[in-house]
Amino acid sequence: MHEVKIDYKKCVYCRTCITVCPMGVYTDETDKVEVTNASDCVACMSCVPACPTDAITVKENP
Ligand code: SF4
Ligand code: SF4
Repeated sequence: MHEVKIDYKKCVYCRTCITVCPMGVYTDETDKVEVTNASDCVACMSCVPACPTDAITVKENP
């Protein structure tokens, strides 16, 4: 299983990661985005460069 983390010191709640992720790893929790389905992550890395503030870290099979 891959490790997906959001650095909340950097996240500006733009929700781009929710739009970009093909696997539904992220969930909009109304006031923040949470990583709720990390077990579905396929490490496509689409979310990492899409995040405008570099808040996302994805580690393959840590
Ligand atoms: S794309 Fe980055 S800044 Fe935007 S909600 Fe996701 S983690 Fe936060
Ligand atoms: S690496 Fe791909 S599958 Fe994993 S959370 Fe990011 S966009 Fe979703």
